[in-house]
Amino acid sequence: MPPATLMETLYGDLERLVGKMQEVVRTSTPESVSGDQARLFVERFAEAERAAASGVALFTPVVVGTGSYAKGGHASAQDWLGSLSGSSAGTAKGRLAAAERAAADPTLTEALHEGGLSAAELAVVTNAATEAPESTEDLLKLVDQGASHQELSDTAARMKAAARSRETEHLRRARVHTNRHLRVRQVETGGVRAEIFCDEVEWARIAPRIEARAKELWKAVGGGSEPLEAYRLDALIELLGDSQVSQSLGRPDRPARPTSPSKGTRCQTIVVIDAAALRRGTTEGDEICEIEGIGPVSVEAATELLSEGSVRYVIREGFDIKTVTKLTRDVAAAVEAALIVRDRICAVPGCGKRLGLETDHRGVDFGDDGPTELDNLVRLCPEHHHLKTHGGWRLEGKPGDWKWVAPAHPKSAHFIARARKLAAAKGRAQTARTARGPAAAANGVAQANDGPEAHGNPKANGTIRRNRGSP
Ligand SMILES: [Zn+2]
Repeated sequence: MPPATLMETLYGDLERLVGKMQEVVRTSTPESVSGDQARLFVERFAEAERAAASGVALFTPVVVGTGSYAKGGHASAQDWLGSLSGSSAGTAKGRLAAAERAAADPTLTEALHEGGLSAAELAVVTNAATEAPESTEDLLKLVDQGASHQELSDTAARMKAAARSRETEHLRRARVHTNRHLRVRQVETGGVRAEIFCDEVEWARIAPRIEARAKELWKAVGGGSEPLEAYRLDALIELLGDSQVSQSLGRPDRPARPTSPSKGTRCQTIVVIDAAALRRGTTEGDEICEIEGIGPVSVEAATELLSEGSVRYVIREGFDIKTVTKLTRDVAAAVEAALIVRDRICAVPGCGKRLGLETDHRGVDFGDDGPTELDNLVRLCPEHHHLKTHGGWRLEGKPGDWKWVAPAHPKSAHFIARARKLAAAKGRAQTARTARGPAAAANGVAQANDGPEAHGNPKANGTIRRNRGSP
């Protein structure tokens, strides 16, 4: 018998490992372990999943290139991979395309050999490489640093936008416009699901009204019990239907809502743009041109909104604000604009969320007369905000170099949710007391409860106080 080649030996190893893993899955009893032990199991399985995805991406181009998939009776390569991985042919097709592109790129091939690239990450990186070939290394570095999928795809989108010429940008927007739609279908389990697809600029024309009304409705119920996205829909229906959403639908306990949007409701789109990009007309390198809450757009698209009264441009030069187009002497507005420029994403390293960020008063508690300077403020996603406010987690360091520090005994998600509900209930009670007594009103609690960034009691969580409807 001839000695086994290296690849034969490796294949034998792989077969045994898969068998072993299946045995672990078959014989383990998850209900018998603690939550922390279960978490370790999941972490190892996820590592295996990444290694497996890398292996699939490394070997599939050879199967496709040699046509070996047909030997199993499969009509096409995507049918073959789809049936193996239990995914749709469309998903398998994307995976195959990503693997093909990776095979042609030595940097990506090397990354796959490291075994740390998930299928979704590979798709983002290879897709970005088609438009911005120089992006690969930077994106792989992000993956290495443990960036979230959101952070990775945002960076990829920014790098692609920077690489795009004006012509391709025009073509891209024309394609979006051609494919624009509003699809609605009934879901089998009840309800209808709608999907809107449109140009970013078009959306930016209506989004601020929805957002402002949603926050108003959210605030009216004391905030917290339902996510903001629920109120976003209520706001949309109300604004389009010109009537109030049924208040008692399955929720007889629901408090009354304010009847119509109040005058002071903030209703504004913010465009954050680099001064150099604005002068040049396109973004380059790390420069940004983003509609807050929507995402990166071309400079040309962003300037289309100039005539809209509700749009505010925040122009950044390095980390400093060059100009805030809306003339104001309000210090709070300038601080908020600077904060939006500085914290484009949740400050927690590796999170990358950029929608629905909340402002946290990080240093001295506002209730104890803490200063509202930029240094004391930080933007966090709602989930990380909860972990910080109710779970004992802390942010240390400085902008651009934050460290997310665990408490000595990290709390479970259930504990944090309970603490949050309790704080919200206390906040509602305090708001009610404030409404009854003029003495209580002087402490500013009512004003502070402005939007989802406030969890009831501002003293407990140190959110910024706003004295007016505008930022
Ligand atoms: Zn976050």
